[in-house]
Amino acid sequence: MQFLLEPNLIFLIVVIAINSTLAFVVYKNNPRSAANLLFVFLSIFSSLWLIANYISTHPKFLESSIVWIRLTIFFAAPQATLLFLLAHTFPSEKIRFSRRVFFVLLALMGLVMIVNVSPFAFERVAIEDSSPRPIPGPGIMLFVVFGITMVGGSITLLIKKLKKATGIEKQQLRFILAGISAMMGAIIFTILIPVVFFGKNYFVQYSPVYTSFFLGVTAYAIVKHNLFNIRVIATELFSTLIALVFLIRVLSSNTVNEFLFNLLLFVILSVFGVLLVRGTIREIRELQRLSQAKSDFVSIVSHQLRTPLTTIKGFVSMMQEGKETDAERKDWLQKVYITNERLIRLVNDILNISRMEEGRIEYEFQDVDALDIIDGAVTEMKMPAQDKGVALLWTKPDEAVPRVRADALKLRQVFLNLIDNGIKYTDVNGWVSVRLFHNKDLRKIDVIVQDTGMGLEKKEVRSLFERFSRVGAGQKTNAEGMGIGLYIARHIMEAHNGKIWAESEGRGMGSKFYVELPTI
Ligand code: ADP
Repeated sequence: MQFLLEPNLIFLIVVIAINSTLAFVVYKNNPRSAANLLFVFLSIFSSLWLIANYISTHPKFLESSIVWIRLTIFFAAPQATLLFLLAHTFPSEKIRFSRRVFFVLLALMGLVMIVNVSPFAFERVAIEDSSPRPIPGPGIMLFVVFGITMVGGSITLLIKKLKKATGIEKQQLRFILAGISAMMGAIIFTILIPVVFFGKNYFVQYSPVYTSFFLGVTAYAIVKHNLFNIRVIATELFSTLIALVFLIRVLSSNTVNEFLFNLLLFVILSVFGVLLVRGTIREIRELQRLSQAKSDFVSIVSHQLRTPLTTIKGFVSMMQEGKETDAERKDWLQKVYITNERLIRLVNDILNISRMEEGRIEYEFQDVDALDIIDGAVTEMKMPAQDKGVALLWTKPDEAVPRVRADALKLRQVFLNLIDNGIKYTDVNGWVSVRLFHNKDLRKIDVIVQDTGMGLEKKEVRSLFERFSRVGAGQKTNAEGMGIGLYIARHIMEAHNGKIWAESEGRGMGSKFYVELPTI
């Protein structure tokens, strides 16, 4: 069985399929963006150009080759224009030319296209060794100047933009520029120079690869706003390439057996490629997340440390001037003391976090009375609650509660944190209540710390226990918070085989924090 298609035609079809897929993906990515639409048109005209190119050199169409050769440059003109427009527009979503300039450009393009299909551009075709050789006329110069201006303009524009751009935009522009440079370089060195100087057109057949490469890279830059890693891109490129090679083998198989075998290989390799790319992406994302967390950590911590240090410095330098009264000095020293305590707590929290994450935190588990621990925490928070004008209520169960296996100090820290938050995020005249329930059947105790404060929105409830999670209104009320208290609490509860979670009816409706612990 001879498969229907000659290799060059298969090649053309595969490349056009790739171009169309790229156009489709870019269109779907953002149908309203002018940059994306320009790309779609660019891809369409590139495919039309490839078709004209293919037919113009095909032996079967020798007689009509002049028409097809003219058509290649007919389609090349909009290609160059679209490239220029894309370079001018990207990464914006709107064309940034004024209407007038835009229409002048289109009119110019139309003129070049008309000249390109007329005998002015290519007068006729001479047949040499049964391959067509076009004889250019004076009109071709118009196209040459127009083409050079458009492509040169695109590259200049992109370089200019690249210089100003930052972050992801810079990467995107770099990509597109690299794509254009690779395509133009390949066209100049393997097609233009050999054809013009040596009369060799061996590489012309590979021009589909050049355009597709450029389109692929540009599509990638447009769609993946997050061009995160060269490793992912390399893996994607490599997998696609391998799959393509095998697809071409499938399509050019000579026997049914060969076809089936190649098809099987193609499917296996494609699946493997997808898995490989996914694995790499996952790995890179995780690395990125970690590095983001690290930089967040550094910026939050340095900010949080600086605030108390600046306060302390302020009071100390005022005291150095020595103009204060005794009462003032006492007050300032008290403030310095409180701020310093806060600093110590902060540093301890930070140390705890890093120890916790490295799994270096040690727990001293003992059989303890949860009631005692909560009692102690409530007592300690009485003063701060009173100072703020928030009532603190503590409801114990009537009967005795079985003991729990816990690290008393760490458990105490969890309750202190919950009560402290309750007070912090509740306005004057509100209340915070602590209740303990014993569930005999499920052999556990539940502690509920409820407040009448600012409450939480649904989506906030979920993220609360993440590292550095500071949400909604709490963020504004308490500028000093670092969003690590609940994160540490969650870790502590997990180490106790317990649970911690929050519930709230919404903003302004108060919150409930639940702690669940198995009893002995
Ligand atoms: P911090 O209070 O230091 O910011 P936490 O981890 O203790 O850190 O709390 C994280 C965030 O959760 C707070 O910034 C706040 O937005 C929110 N939050 C915690 N407790 C309450 C509460 N009782 N009511 C409303 N919001 C709360």
